[in-house]
Amino acid sequence: MIRIRKPKTPPAKLAIEGKIKCKSHCDDYSRNPSAYKIQEEKFKFASSIYAHESVKQALIDAQHQKCCFCERIIGNNGDVEHFRPKGAYQQAKGSPPQYSGYYWLAYKWENLYLSCSSCNQRLKKNLFPLKDPNKRATDHQQRISKERPMFIDCGKEDPEEFIGFNAEFAYAIDGNPRGQITIDYLNLNSPDLIEARRQRLRLLKELNKVLLETIDDVTNQAIQELAEEIKNILKEYVLDSAEFASAARCVVSSEFRDLIG
Ligand SMILES: [Zn+2]
Repeated sequence: MIRIRKPKTPPAKLAIEGKIKCKSHCDDYSRNPSAYKIQEEKFKFASSIYAHESVKQALIDAQHQKCCFCERIIGNNGDVEHFRPKGAYQQAKGSPPQYSGYYWLAYKWENLYLSCSSCNQRLKKNLFPLKDPNKRATDHQQRISKERPMFIDCGKEDPEEFIGFNAEFAYAIDGNPRGQITIDYLNLNSPDLIEARRQRLRLLKELNKVLLETIDDVTNQAIQELAEEIKNILKEYVLDSAEFASAARCVVSSEFRDLIG
């Protein structure tokens, strides 16, 4: 995971239609809160608004086409994910879903990210653990600012302060519990992710080996040009736009930062 910087201004679809729809959900809820809590009434969320092409494109651009959690490149194939789940929430895996979810944030720009279907639909779903569940905002009149989410919010904080990589394996820096829960619940050490990162890091290390062998050969112009080209490729591996940039940055900073610096 890396820090994501979305434009401050929400896409017009959210600012206009999303705002109207949000008010209508809040009014409906206020009329009969208990009906929503026992699911006699259910919100009809408009994916035509929160997942509108303009919203999705803005997220794709801000996130360099990558999943906000696992950093796989997904391009157009991602889901618009709600950081605070809109329909229901669960404090922990296996605990029963509680209704309603954060319905008033369904069209809120700050609450939306692009995520791969594996992270969004199979893993995160309604999970939204808080450090203190008693501080949870359970309707639109309560403030989410009192909550201390256990998941790292990559739009507001830097995930690389919480989650590091030892080669292809994600770990919680200094054993911090938020990093650990994010890794565990989103399965950031799933076999397929580990393998994908391993392959990426292997290429990085092999390129670095070639660089080490060529960089000192200052008499050969062609070799020097090759070394320069490899340096440029290595630099691209650690850009925000690169797949698994966070893992690559850990390897580079621990093993060969000075070389490409
Ligand atoms: Zn993902």
